Amino acid sequence: MATNEDLANLLFPEVTETIDDLEKRFPERHLPEGAQVTRFAPSPTGFLHTGSLFTAFIARTVAKQSGGVYFFRLEDTDTKRTIAGSADDLIGQLAQFGIVADEGYFPDGDKGAYGPYQQSKRASIYKVVIKELIKQGKAYPDFMTAEELAALRKFQEENKILPGYYGPYARDRRLTVNEAIEKIKAGTPWVIRYRSQGDHDKKIKFTDRIRGTIEIADNDVDIVILKGDGLPTYHFAHVVDDHFMRTTIVTRGEEWIPSTPIHLQLFRDLGWKAPKYAHLPVIMKLDHGNKRKLSKRKDPEAAVSYLLKIGYPPQAILVYLMSIANSNFEEWTLSNHSFDVDKFPFSFSKMSLDGALFDEGKLNWFSKETMALIPTKDLVPEVTKWAKENDAALMAKIEADPAYFSRILGIERDRPNPRKDYARYQDIEPAIRFFYEEDYAKIVANGLPFNPRYSASFLEKFLGDMAEKMRYGVSESEWWNSVKEVASQDGFAVSNKDYKANPSAYQGSVSDAAELIRIALTGSKDSPNLHEIIEILGEKRVKERLHAVANH
Ligand code: GLU
Repeated sequence: MATNEDLANLLFPEVTETIDDLEKRFPERHLPEGAQVTRFAPSPTGFLHTGSLFTAFIARTVAKQSGGVYFFRLEDTDTKRTIAGSADDLIGQLAQFGIVADEGYFPDGDKGAYGPYQQSKRASIYKVVIKELIKQGKAYPDFMTAEELAALRKFQEENKILPGYYGPYARDRRLTVNEAIEKIKAGTPWVIRYRSQGDHDKKIKFTDRIRGTIEIADNDVDIVILKGDGLPTYHFAHVVDDHFMRTTIVTRGEEWIPSTPIHLQLFRDLGWKAPKYAHLPVIMKLDHGNKRKLSKRKDPEAAVSYLLKIGYPPQAILVYLMSIANSNFEEWTLSNHSFDVDKFPFSFSKMSLDGALFDEGKLNWFSKETMALIPTKDLVPEVTKWAKENDAALMAKIEADPAYFSRILGIERDRPNPRKDYARYQDIEPAIRFFYEEDYAKIVANGLPFNPRYSASFLEKFLGDMAEKMRYGVSESEWWNSVKEVASQDGFAVSNKDYKANPSAYQGSVSDAAELIRIALTGSKDSPNLHEIIEILGEKRVKERLHAVANH
């Protein structure tokens, strides 16, 4: 009578290696105590989702903070869903965030000793393990056709039976080795299924690093582990790959929690130590008061490319993601005066369980804070690179005079309390238009928002006086003194106290006077530091602008 070994040899004659050989080829990593091996394992099925960036970022952070290894594995076994080029795009986008794997799949070839890091190139490895499972009777070929499987599903549905290929419904589980061999020899197509010993009526327990103990029904389905195309299913590939790549913590989306019993069963039956699991919360969004998943279709912010396109600095997006990862992050930034995500001690236990909420207002806040801390010399090239691809109007301004643009971008930056005015690079161009004569002319032509209590003749005198008498090229305090002097001559109160005591005696306070200058030069009541603006525009243009507005 034929044995399981005969069956295994008939199915996989080309496989000569054993699991032991693989153990030697991919030995335990000798890393310092506590160092974690993590991975990001996307399927190349489309664009980089904000949730995937979150997953990759957490995996990278855990490895980096523990002195371990973060690797990238391409899970491309679902060939029907694979989109050509998307893996390389994904890697390129992650690189923009500084998320570069220590080892793994790279567009120009693998890096690292635990590869190949692309599942479609690992068929021979999976087959070694499957051959051994077949020899041990733990896996078997299944010959059911698509029609037969559909009929089984229909029968189960009609009879209100839990659907699936398990127990009494796992037809080919009961074939004898001889029967199976006969079918194979007859050329009947097959897949390989795992012979589950689990009992769906029993619960198993495992520890999740984020959620603590999870109790869940055991798996009794004889899942497919090798498909008809010779490639494994996710479940099997995960177990084999994370074992032989020596992953210590699997960080993946919470949608995988229900399948974890399958994975634990496989690890146990193979005699392998399972990695730790951390099932990450899904990124949610508030939609008319209801929380729902961030959706590819409905929410542009679900695509990382969109966030980059409108000009959030990559590091600001990471800062924001860290704030949704760990609730104590914001407090940490305040007491450490830092937005350096690598310095923040990330912890799984501080992760929220009920979904991380994507909140644009919060993203903008963190982005302003983060961008304010970027030194001008670093920000200028970043903005330039972005503008080249995304903002022609801004690019024209930069190209017209790079040094001038640099000074503008540097206003109230590079100092202890920098100005926090930009959340996105796309906010820059509209905010700096007044520095450019053509745009400034349009702003003036649209009308300036002077308080109507100032008559045209008063403005003419006041702005004319300011143009000639305020001081240029001096320190801010010297300049301000000169402004106060001119304002006082033209009837403004120099001190707020004086003005409050007797408002009708004055044209206004000195800050009202400064506002008139500000409006005349920028077109708006709200602008960055007026003295810096005046210095950047220079005496000649300031005079021209003030006189022109005065005589308007
Ligand atoms: N390829 C799987 C996915 O994209 C990976 C899950 C995992 O990290 O194990 O969902």
